[in-house]
Amino acid sequence: MLQYKHGASETTAALEFAVNSLQVPNVLVVGHSRCGGIQALMSMKSKKDDRSSRTFIRDWVSLGKSARLSTEAAAGNLSFESQCRHCEKESINSSLLNLLTYPWIEERVKEGNLNLHGGYYNFIDCTFEKWTLVYRPGLEGGSKYAIKNRSTWS
Ligand SMILES: [Zn+2]
Repeated sequence: MLQYKHGASETTAALEFAVNSLQVPNVLVVGHSRCGGIQALMSMKSKKDDRSSRTFIRDWVSLGKSARLSTEAAAGNLSFESQCRHCEKESINSSLLNLLTYPWIEERVKEGNLNLHGGYYNFIDCTFEKWTLVYRPGLEGGSKYAIKNRSTWS
């Protein structure tokens, strides 16, 4: 859940090298089923939980907050397991939106020289789902995004 202002510096360095120096045409953010991080994010009860956890986890969880909120809005009536599955995919989209907070990534996406893709590996039924984020200028975080070319390999 990298974000321009909060991302881990080594991850940002790798990303910057790939995008600016190697000029890769595609970035793929992959999530997976039964994710322990997402389960922790979805089962965190209160602000108190938030404070008592260690800093790295707290930072990660705070970046995941928007994924949890939109999951609760869209799937709040489903079982905990279904909500986690929803949030696993939602957090991928929120990571893709966070990538757009890097000015040099947004620039290349805007020019059509870089595509941002989401991927979801479900190791329970051995399928891989893939989709592409549609770039919309002026887009900010939250759930205002569109996706295209969703396909599932099994
Ligand atoms: Zn995970």
